[in-house]
Amino acid sequence: MDATLAASLRARDTAGLRRTLRPAPAPGTLHGFASNDYLGLAAHPALVEAAARAARDFGAGATAARLIGGSLPPHHALEDALAAWKRTEAALAFGSGYATALGVIPALVGRGDFVVLDRLAHACCVDGVRLSGATLRVFRHNDPADLDRLLTLVRRDHGGARVLVVTEGVFSMDGDRAPLAELIAVKDRHGAWLMLDEAHAVGVFGPRGGGLAEELGPGPHVEVRMGTLGKAVGAAGGYVAGSHVLVDHLVNHARSFLFSTAPVPAAAAAAAAGVELIQSAEGAARRARLRENIRALRAALRRPDDPAASAIAVWPVGEAAAATTLAEALRDRGIFVPAIRYPTVKRGAARLRFTATAAHTADDFAALAAALAQTLFPIS
Ligand SMILES: *Cc1c(COP(=O)(O)O)cnc(C)c1O
Repeated sequence: MDATLAASLRARDTAGLRRTLRPAPAPGTLHGFASNDYLGLAAHPALVEAAARAARDFGAGATAARLIGGSLPPHHALEDALAAWKRTEAALAFGSGYATALGVIPALVGRGDFVVLDRLAHACCVDGVRLSGATLRVFRHNDPADLDRLLTLVRRDHGGARVLVVTEGVFSMDGDRAPLAELIAVKDRHGAWLMLDEAHAVGVFGPRGGGLAEELGPGPHVEVRMGTLGKAVGAAGGYVAGSHVLVDHLVNHARSFLFSTAPVPAAAAAAAAGVELIQSAEGAARRARLRENIRALRAALRRPDDPAASAIAVWPVGEAAAATTLAEALRDRGIFVPAIRYPTVKRGAARLRFTATAAHTADDFAALAAALAQTLFPIS
């Protein structure tokens, strides 16, 4: 086995695509632009204390799947907090965002049904569709007209099928936003359902940090709002927010919920604390600081200011090896930023992916600008 696997690793190496695990930079050593902890909540005392208290009160492990061992108070508290935040009837917590998509999509559609997916949607959504047995159709990135065209064809040929549209609010490796209002209008016209992955929109957009669906306001309808508790929420886990019927259905049909041990109490309690904090005055102040830091990140990259920009800014490179070399050159100058390569993005579309957080300081951006002046912008 090892000889076979080593050969495939060598092939990845030759293509400049081999990954290796590296330690995260020790605090205070490098200026990090790799974190998705957009509001700087992961190390917040309120979350750390909530996790510690839950571990002391309920143990380190949840001991069983919830339908076997019963739910613990932190699970219900988290789901109540999520539903109140998202202003939905109900919510359901999963072990991770990845496990959420893997459970939810096959619970909603199966053989004979259709999923129409944005071309750049996250791997967990692609894998969820594969697992479901539904037929996959892909629409051009952020193109409601192309979605309309595909839905028209699906409805013409398969009138009675279930059709689920899946997209991200903010695209994880591009940083751009979905035209949500237009997508909702199109899917409503065709009687399709929408699942919105808000992984990178939550905490950043919306008056209470609830993401793009919240920013649109009440009225427009997203049937399935999913996200992760591991990024702006500062903890770990995944969730779906939606109707009572949706959540009841998922409790009965989502296999990554049914057959997986419940989230550890510490993670659920930390996530609930993160959800509360995001909506508080402190959360609003952190969002304002994040907004300033997004502007500073864009300025360092010599991009125009854009008040609607996400926290993700991408520097396109092209070849994988060149992206890795550039990331290493930045690391040598004190900047920690990931080179994003195939299969995370398509071949030949490697890039550097910078993220801003509320925890960045003016010093971080000064160091970034100085390093970029020697690497990305050497002659100007
Ligand atoms: C990170 C991410 C996920 C997965 O969430 P985890 O909790 O990390 O498993 C899902 N969708 C998108 C768009 C993501 O960026």
